[in-house]
Amino acid sequence: TEYVYRFGGGVSEGGQDKNLLGGKGANLDGMAGIGLPVPPGFTISTAMCTRYYEEGERFPDELRPQVTLGLHHIETVTGKKFGNPADPLLVSVRSGARVSMPGMMDTVLNLGLNDATVEGLAAVSNDARFAWDSYRRFVQMYADVVLGLDHGSFEEALDVAKEDRGYTLDTELEADDLRALVAEYKSLVEKLWGKPFPQDVHDQLWGAVGAVFGSWQSERAKVYRRINSIPGDWGTAVNVQAMVFGNMGETSATGVAFTRNPSTGERAYYGEFLINAQGEDVVAGIRTPQYLTKSAREAARAKPASMEEALPETYTELARVFDLLETHYRDMQDIEFTVQQGKLWMLQTRSGKRTAKAALKIAVDMAEEGLITRDEAVARVDPSALDQLLHPTLDPAAIRDVIVTGLPASPGAASGAAVFDSATAENRAALGEPVILIRTETSPEDISGMHAAKGILTARGGMTSHAAVVARGMGRPCVSGAGGLSIDAKARTAKAGGRTINEGDLITIDGSSGEVMAGHVATVQPELAGDFATLMVWADGVRRMRVRANAETPEDARVAREFGAEGIGLCRTEHMFFDAARISAVREMILAENEAGRRVALAKLLPEQRKDFAELFEVMAGLPVTIRLLDPPLHEFLPHEDAEFETVAAAAGVPIETLKRRAAELHEFNPMLGHRGCRLGVTFPEIYEMQARAIFEAALMLDVAPVPEIMIPLVATKRELELMKAVVDKAAEAVFAEAGRRIEYLVGTMIELPRAALRAGEIAEAAQFFSFGTNDLTQTTLGVSRDDAARFLGAYVDQGIYARDPFVSIDVEGVGELVQLAADRGRATRPDIKLGICGEHGGDPSSIAFCEQVGLDYVSASPYRVPIARLAAAQSAL
Ligand code: PEP
Ligand code: MG
Repeated sequence: TEYVYRFGGGVSEGGQDKNLLGGKGANLDGMAGIGLPVPPGFTISTAMCTRYYEEGERFPDELRPQVTLGLHHIETVTGKKFGNPADPLLVSVRSGARVSMPGMMDTVLNLGLNDATVEGLAAVSNDARFAWDSYRRFVQMYADVVLGLDHGSFEEALDVAKEDRGYTLDTELEADDLRALVAEYKSLVEKLWGKPFPQDVHDQLWGAVGAVFGSWQSERAKVYRRINSIPGDWGTAVNVQAMVFGNMGETSATGVAFTRNPSTGERAYYGEFLINAQGEDVVAGIRTPQYLTKSAREAARAKPASMEEALPETYTELARVFDLLETHYRDMQDIEFTVQQGKLWMLQTRSGKRTAKAALKIAVDMAEEGLITRDEAVARVDPSALDQLLHPTLDPAAIRDVIVTGLPASPGAASGAAVFDSATAENRAALGEPVILIRTETSPEDISGMHAAKGILTARGGMTSHAAVVARGMGRPCVSGAGGLSIDAKARTAKAGGRTINEGDLITIDGSSGEVMAGHVATVQPELAGDFATLMVWADGVRRMRVRANAETPEDARVAREFGAEGIGLCRTEHMFFDAARISAVREMILAENEAGRRVALAKLLPEQRKDFAELFEVMAGLPVTIRLLDPPLHEFLPHEDAEFETVAAAAGVPIETLKRRAAELHEFNPMLGHRGCRLGVTFPEIYEMQARAIFEAALMLDVAPVPEIMIPLVATKRELELMKAVVDKAAEAVFAEAGRRIEYLVGTMIELPRAALRAGEIAEAAQFFSFGTNDLTQTTLGVSRDDAARFLGAYVDQGIYARDPFVSIDVEGVGELVQLAADRGRATRPDIKLGICGEHGGDPSSIAFCEQVGLDYVSASPYRVPIARLAAAQSAL
């Protein structure tokens, strides 16, 4: 089997196959294929990673000769030999999964240096300092990422070496200083690892390859895969590539760049570079990177020359490469490059991570530039990423008490309690507290904490630092590189300008301006015009399913309409019962001893409900509105405190003891499977009768009456629905007779119990529509409590029992089969039956794709998720 694919020097063997070569390898192959200057190398395929694990973490024998051939390829193109003490070939070794994964081992540079080859490198480059600095970096990196030794000890040794000699900068170290430092590093390796630093270059290479495969199963990588739903069996590829050097003097440089601005989407080259430096120097934030373009430098009023000014010819070449890459990949690219003595080398390209705002702008711009089609533009934008745009930004009028300012690394505003480590972020967030994670800089170990936090603030690192890149990907607001902030992680404080932020202090960050503010700052709703509106129009043009909202208040309904909801798919009437002004009457009704008592209380509720529905109908102006009759177990409404009992007792004119006894009687052991849903209507039909009356009376108040869709919850049998439909129809006739006017209405049911799904054929005889309540349907099908699942579901997802949280993303195999079957059986009985979904899954893109497959008529999602649903529905129809 072929496991090794060569590239560079006019060769590209891998066919740009991401699954085989990983993202990095596929793009190196792609760049080589279009003739860009790529240092020669080879990729060991992802299939090898899988095989490596199958064989108990060993390399099969057939891999060795293939790697040897790969090395030969690099040697032939470069004219250097691996391990040759006279003129050594040095390589980089990088991991590269199908999708970029910051949780994995990233890179080892300068591999191939040892005590002998370092002398050769010094002689050939005529630069002993460069050679020993490369060796020094190699030992340090290898010890860290391959041997897993504590990098703190190495940094300390470096600091001591500088201090001893009275230096402040790494660059002040001379060749002899570095030679001494290497000796010290090697003894550190021996002390910490128990074996000498490997001198055999082939041992070095296999060690690094093994470390790449090993990092696939590291804890950090597993966490990252879980958060991002990446299957564990994809594996990673390994890329071995000839080294080029950005640290060979003033005509050498290294940089990272985006072909468009990844934060705003603006069409302008964007990036950072450093003269006379190696790749990690840019990302590490030790030296301040310089701007790529003159205009960016001027806009920032920065002094050091931009690349456009310092290396004009190479810059022109780079700009040409940017354009070739965009044309080839038809997307914004994120690039790493090195200039070795005036010659440009491309080290990496990939589709650049971007903010939602940039994603939108780039998709719309590229469609308008003719680079991609409108359908492609619709397909390009990740619906979940819209979340970033739909959330509030700081109110420009609000007073801001700015403590410190950093870089605007990821947009959006967030407030929360300051926390200084990821574990605390996770713990406090788990208790429902919004937190802002403050770190000097973040590393892949912080991923879970960053995910748990509402926002991230770092003292160090640029726009391409780990914190910035990861936060943008997650859609978390982030302020990075707030240099004025001095953080004491142990003491859990941060100081800036004479002020102190303690753990737990409320702060606000604005990832769009870089400001960090004390306290909670007011926010405003996002602007929904411009690129957002354009893309939504394109999306609506291809969408088949309708998108409705789950909403019960007029405010929510208004937001939903602004977001483009085409109706209400679920009005949970119980939410209206919790209103402070009427909860007392609700309690009176529940605690009543008999029907007469209940009717007295219900009469008080009727005008309130009528008002609720009238307002809702008005906001929705003729769009369909599905109203669900009372659903939750009644105990949810009961008083807890004596004062509340007293209020109800006074209103109902009964002794408080009687009420307390009634409340105790209502206790249920398993309320979710207890006296709720249509069971309330079966036992107390007067409740549903009042609600139906309120709906019809409200509808008749409007000149153009809406067509209310009345929905019965938790139905398991046709008979339940028939009984409840009779109550509704009777109320309708009574109201129509009083008004002397009739209106149209529909009666349907939720399908949220397995029995209802199975018996959908006969239930459809009584139902004009079905709405899949996949929250309860998931709970009852899986036998997993939706309120208690969090305690063990993490372990279930980790161990691959469910690929994703089934309450977030529909369990297609189980719950999905019931939905499909109910849809089929319902349609068989009543071909024009209206089908929708109103569980949380209605706002989840992958579940929406499933709904499209089943051919549902609409999905219904919470108001803020309506645009996400519109886009996801469009994508699923493409
Ligand atoms: C459902 O069960 O999916 C549903 C929409 O109803 P609720 O969440 O109110 O139980
Ligand atoms: Mg339900």
